Amino acid sequence: MANFKPKEPQITNNNDQNHYQLLSNSKLFSDAKKVTPLGVNSPVRYFEPYPFFTKKANGAYLWDADNRKLIDFCNGYGALLLGHRRKEIINAVSKQLTKGTLYCTPTDAETQLAKLIVGNFPSIEKVRLMNTGGEATMTAIRLARGFTKKKKIIKFEGCYHGAHDSVLVKAGSGSAHNGISVSDGGLDEVSKNTLVVQYNNIEDLQKTIQKNKDIAGVIVEPILANMGLILPEKNFLSDLRKITKENNIPLIFDEVVTGFRVAPGGAQQHFGIKPDLTTMAKALSNGFTISAVGGKKEIMDLLSPGGKVYQASTFAGNPISVSAAIASIKTINKLKNKLYSKLERFNLLFSTALDDMATDMGIPHQINFTASMLQIFFTNKPVTNYETSKNANAKKFQKMFKTLLKKGVFIAPSQFEVVFLSDAHTENDLNKTLDAYHLALKSVKN
Ligand SMILES: *Cc1c(COP(=O)(O)O)cnc(C)c1O
Repeated sequence: MANFKPKEPQITNNNDQNHYQLLSNSKLFSDAKKVTPLGVNSPVRYFEPYPFFTKKANGAYLWDADNRKLIDFCNGYGALLLGHRRKEIINAVSKQLTKGTLYCTPTDAETQLAKLIVGNFPSIEKVRLMNTGGEATMTAIRLARGFTKKKKIIKFEGCYHGAHDSVLVKAGSGSAHNGISVSDGGLDEVSKNTLVVQYNNIEDLQKTIQKNKDIAGVIVEPILANMGLILPEKNFLSDLRKITKENNIPLIFDEVVTGFRVAPGGAQQHFGIKPDLTTMAKALSNGFTISAVGGKKEIMDLLSPGGKVYQASTFAGNPISVSAAIASIKTINKLKNKLYSKLERFNLLFSTALDDMATDMGIPHQINFTASMLQIFFTNKPVTNYETSKNANAKKFQKMFKTLLKKGVFIAPSQFEVVFLSDAHTENDLNKTLDAYHLALKSVKN
């Protein structure tokens, strides 16, 4: 398949260039710190001694304030499945910009987007659009509570569902990275209604359901992409579906990462399992602010104004994000088979090469990979849950991260995140990246 090679944007404004030359990353950081908490607008973006500041992106690359070109494997934490500034998306959004940016009335485009989502996701009959992943999981949980008239939510250790009280309990991502089990300022009254169960442990789930009669829903990342990468063991998801069904408990698949990334119909299509509710966000629009909750009619129709489960947002369904999401899904559906099989093939080659490299160097390690996602852990034990991920050597990971960055490769700066491939990565990019990993692994050998 031909790779999409967009033209690199040229910085023509000389003042701009001088500005960046004068203000290197460290200077920009000290400036940012004065007006932004620790200089960042989301916790994982910070790393020691200071993060680099990005001035532009294109295809598979980022350029920082020191004019360094980096191969990007953070990819908007998975959002950029098709790469930065993807032609189809940029064209659609540019066209919409000439027609306005916010109407706050219904548009036909929202209906067309909902139809595309319903068409792709086997379990979804109706969709409500919103803005962020956190907003979507908050709404899905409220819907489950409104539907069952029950209180408690079951979540799995290490799964991350956004930064709101009822799911910030033993969560992954930045909260695991910063060692926060329950956030300061969060209410005990809320978090005590969140029951935490070990990922990949069906007995634990069964016991928790038997002990508690007041369960409104179970929320899960079908592939855990916020503790590094952790795959569901054989039968874990199908058992989870069976048990929740038997007990009349709504099952929420949080597909904020997996939706569109592992298959056009998300992990539910990949594994052939139908949840009652689904949340999606990151790869839904390939780089714009949009999320969605979808599910069975009988549950979705409880949303206000038709029902009494309240959810609202000024920017929900805004025409810019909607045009990006429509273009994104249409592109994915058109490329479908080629796109996903190419990414899987690249991932298999890449992960296998990385595995061999670490083995040859005698470094104790694990590599978990699937679809277009992977992560390496420095440990002897297979990484299958929160505990085993936490027990891997995170200091070595940080050392590896820094060497990679020095060599022009940017992965998310935490053991508890994932390396994301995009359609823009070429074989050449991946070979260069393997060379960088080679040096990075050497740096953690002792
Ligand atoms: C990123 C993420 C969220 C939160 O999405 P935001 O847009 O950052 O609020 C929720 N669930 C999962 C699985 C995520 O990875």
